[in-house]
Amino acid sequence: VVNLGLDRSDRGNLEKVQHVVLVLSGKGGVGKSTITTELALALLHVGKKVGVLDVDLCGPSIPRMLGVNKHEVHQCDAGWVPVCVDHLSLMSIAFLLDDPDDAIVWRGPKKTALIGQFVSDVAWGELDVLLVDTPPGTSDEHLAVLENLKKHRVDGAVLITTPQAVSTGDVRREITFCKKTGVKILGIVENMSGFVCPYCTECTSIFSKGGGEELAKLTGSEFLGSVPLDPLLSASVEEGGDFLQAFPESATYSSIR
Ligand code: ADP
Repeated sequence: VVNLGLDRSDRGNLEKVQHVVLVLSGKGGVGKSTITTELALALLHVGKKVGVLDVDLCGPSIPRMLGVNKHEVHQCDAGWVPVCVDHLSLMSIAFLLDDPDDAIVWRGPKKTALIGQFVSDVAWGELDVLLVDTPPGTSDEHLAVLENLKKHRVDGAVLITTPQAVSTGDVRREITFCKKTGVKILGIVENMSGFVCPYCTECTSIFSKGGGEELAKLTGSEFLGSVPLDPLLSASVEEGGDFLQAFPESATYSSIR
């Protein structure tokens, strides 16, 4: 945690941020960061000013997905200047580490303090939407985000699930967390729902399908759509940087719209 010497009381770095949306998932590896990035790019595509705050402190993957994990953040009078990648403003702990692959082995209070700084000390400027990529589950980090965003309106949360995760109840716990903390569920996205053949582009359901939709009905939430497993997407994510170029053509883009 870095002392920037800022007076937080009158900084109001989120003052010009119109909407704050959390992205949640019950467990890791379901594609939360991927969908956060896609949501951000889809919003950019329709002309919105978008920021992404990556508070997945132990697994910050968005900078790598966008090919900017070696970037450093700079400071201005209002605090940290987010890294700008193709008009997207991004802040992540990866930018503060000497080696972006360093493991973060921190106890709760230290994580909470850094999240407090991320919320108050990043100079986002004017944004239509700030997407907050959270760690999997419901942990200290989630409570820290909500606690620090108390003064500002959190518009709600988008829940990411895979068809299998729906049946294990991980997402249900996430729903309970939202209810208990008063966070509105904006909708549910089912990721990895089917596989897109790279040759004929036909989508085959490998696992069960429709679980996300069922869960949405059950909880009275909106089902926002299903995103298939797309080899083009995972390849561009793994390679980093090509994601932006591959994105508009990827099957996932049309799905999320
Ligand atoms: P999480 O943030 O939930 O831990 P990630 O977004 O990091 O998950 O995704 C985990 C892995 O799955 C990554 O390697 C990513 O490229 C891959 N992945 C996620 N969604 C898809 C998808 N729809 N198609 C192909 N690969 C995907």
